Amino acid sequence: MLLGKPVQEAILEDVKKGLAELVAAGHRPPKLAAVLVGDDPASAMYVRTKTRKCEELGIDSEAVLLPESTSTEELLERIDGFNADEGVDGILVQLPLPDGVDSEAVLDRIDPRKDVDGLHPENVGLLVQKRPRFVAATPAGIMQMLDGAAIQIEGQNAVIIGRSEIVGKPMASLLMHRHATITVCHSRTRDLPGVCRRADILIVAIGRDAMVTKDFVKPGATVIDVGINRVADRERVEEIFGDNANWEKFDERGYIVVGDVHPEVAEVAGAMTPVPGGVGPLTIGMLMSNTLAAARQRAGLAS
Ligand code: NAP
Repeated sequence: MLLGKPVQEAILEDVKKGLAELVAAGHRPPKLAAVLVGDDPASAMYVRTKTRKCEELGIDSEAVLLPESTSTEELLERIDGFNADEGVDGILVQLPLPDGVDSEAVLDRIDPRKDVDGLHPENVGLLVQKRPRFVAATPAGIMQMLDGAAIQIEGQNAVIIGRSEIVGKPMASLLMHRHATITVCHSRTRDLPGVCRRADILIVAIGRDAMVTKDFVKPGATVIDVGINRVADRERVEEIFGDNANWEKFDERGYIVVGDVHPEVAEVAGAMTPVPGGVGPLTIGMLMSNTLAAARQRAGLAS
């Protein structure tokens, strides 16, 4: 199993060193501003996890919680405020935003030098041109995990399921820059299992519980499961886990967190990330790393 925690710890060790250097050079600690709109429990939990990690590390953070009814204009004003605030180094808008909000306009408004999620077109362009400034935390963390486990990337066939701005697209750039041959799949891909079976490295970011089964996976392939799905249907949990279901957790919470990859894939994969405990911790680690990098860049230090 490819576990996220040890990789996160290695990332955070580097962050701690960089923080100590920043402070020793006479600068204040970095500050991350997080904006959460609406009351989606999963999004609220992600923001709490991120600000708690900041606190543990000595990074300042501020979470702004806004109601579901918040307009695009109000959100843009908030972003303008953080952009102008010299005390804020990183700005994070928790996605997804409510349907009525123009997400593109909001993300475009973030000062690209404070865009620690790497979603501003300027930062996306820099990544595509192989001179990254801020790279979306999840795919950046996956690269750290592959390297940490000494998984060969150069010359390998990498298949990514999902073409989102936050995972699939930046993942494709990062793996291409490391000389993998990339295929990006999506909902219109023909013969998805057949295309995936060509993968030496299979990255799955769909958002559908246990969709990727054994017949998608070449024996020995590395499988990275990005999906986080809350399954609240008892029958579905039984279908996925059979006798291995964690009913204690299910009964306690009313749901179980399941990846996009079926647990049976562990029987054929050479290496595989669990959910939870795989990719999730990497995302948090890289967000901390990006926040430090933003502060160092703004302080005129090398990041
Ligand atoms: P997204 O924006 O919803 O994108 C999903 C992608 O999957 C789309 O490209 C979509 O294709 C494709 N897809 C949907 N159904 C498919 C099907 N039946 N066959 C093939 N492709 C299909 O999702 P996302 O933001 O990338 O997130 C994906 C998952 O990762 C979610 O579960 C999310 O919660 C999780 N996530 C986890 C982390 C973490 O830190 N672990 C971070 C980010 C996201 P189309 O483009 O054709 O619609």
